[in-house]
Amino acid sequence: MVKIGGLQKSTLIDYPGRIAATVFLIGCNFRCPFCYSAELVLPEKIKKQPRISEKDFFDFLKERKGLLEGIVICGGEPTIYKELPGFIRKIKKLGYLVKLDTNGSNPEMLKRLIDEKLIDYVAMDIKQSQSAKLPEGSRFGGTYGAGKVQKYDVATGVKVDLNKIKKSVELIKNSGIDYEFRTTIVSTVHTKEDIIEIAKWLTPAKKYYLQNFRAEKTIDPKFKKIKPYSKDFLISIQKEISSYFEICEVRE
Ligand code: SF4
Repeated sequence: MVKIGGLQKSTLIDYPGRIAATVFLIGCNFRCPFCYSAELVLPEKIKKQPRISEKDFFDFLKERKGLLEGIVICGGEPTIYKELPGFIRKIKKLGYLVKLDTNGSNPEMLKRLIDEKLIDYVAMDIKQSQSAKLPEGSRFGGTYGAGKVQKYDVATGVKVDLNKIKKSVELIKNSGIDYEFRTTIVSTVHTKEDIIEIAKWLTPAKKYYLQNFRAEKTIDPKFKKIKPYSKDFLISIQKEISSYFEICEVRE
């Protein structure tokens, strides 16, 4: 059974062009230091997070039939649940469109959801470029050598299988369903060059959003003190990469 840790009963922004509700599933396989949802990610915080039963959730959906058009499923990371297809099937049976927010770490689940026509929109977080980075204080000079780490791992706080991330990107691009990629841009994690590299990786693609980091509650308390980039700086990057996408925008 999926564990529901929150429900936003109405949103005009989470599902582009639709009146929707957002359901937050508990648990995530990443530990992005800048994550705003510690209560859905860290086991010690999850324990204190109130739960919503599946029954209450589906009662709510039945009540709102005709008033809401879509349901956004986010987390945490929803694809960690093997029960996700069954959960979505029940939502779709009630006539709702479904948008999935994912970190792209589970292409097998994503493929199943796409093949079984269970999702109508996917938003995938691209956490970083695919390149490597020298660890702090490295002796290895200007070229990547022994001791290199994936920038993706630094951004997510875990060891990431980049092949899975790349597979998810390709699956989504070829799925025929509506989609977006987006990156939360953190001044101490991402450089302008990183974002340009991401754009070159994703292109050609429909939509890519640059989301500025908000220094609020974060998994790593040090990130609360980080000064975000200025909006003008993000706009300058957006101008540089906009030709790679049908739509490329800065989201505050
Ligand atoms: S921001 Fe990172 S840690 Fe937080 S829910 Fe998303 S993938 Fe998980």
